[in-house]
Amino acid sequence: MKLEFLSKSNNESFSRVVVAAFAAQLDPTLEEISDIKTAISEAVTNSIIHGYEYGEGMITIESTIKGNEIEIIISDEGKGIGDLDEAMEPFYTSKPNLERSGMGFTVMETFMDTLTVESRESKGTVVKMTK
Ligand code: ATP
Ligand code: MG
Repeated sequence: MKLEFLSKSNNESFSRVVVAAFAAQLDPTLEEISDIKTAISEAVTNSIIHGYEYGEGMITIESTIKGNEIEIIISDEGKGIGDLDEAMEPFYTSKPNLERSGMGFTVMETFMDTLTVESRESKGTVVKMTK
């Protein structure tokens, strides 16, 4: 499935619910659904507040079910990440004054089975997760 939406904060909960509904066909436990929703929420929030901090843009979520596994790819065409290793460190945030804890990527890593991130400055960011 493929979902495209504008980077408005209201669309974060919308996208989380859509992916959870798609994942339901795997007959997941409540905990698994909750983990997936948490990870989606972190990735989409990042696209909204970091990727498109200077103006709205489109966010795409593609998801595929293969066997008993779900793959979820969240992409934006926002500002991208200059130093990815630094960004993925626990507690690193580029917005410490906005009460961000810098734990988004760590949360995604913890709640999903795999996480890979690709990003290019001023091109955008692609977050791929499986569970
Ligand atoms: P928290 O998620 O705990 O509120 P955070 O968003 O700063 O804080 P992470 O989600 O771990 O922490 O992201 C770390 C950093 O990576 C961000 O501060 C930001 O600089 C950068 N980043 C993450 N996602 C994106 C994105 N989609 N586009 C541009 N920069 C990003
Ligand atoms: Mg974050």
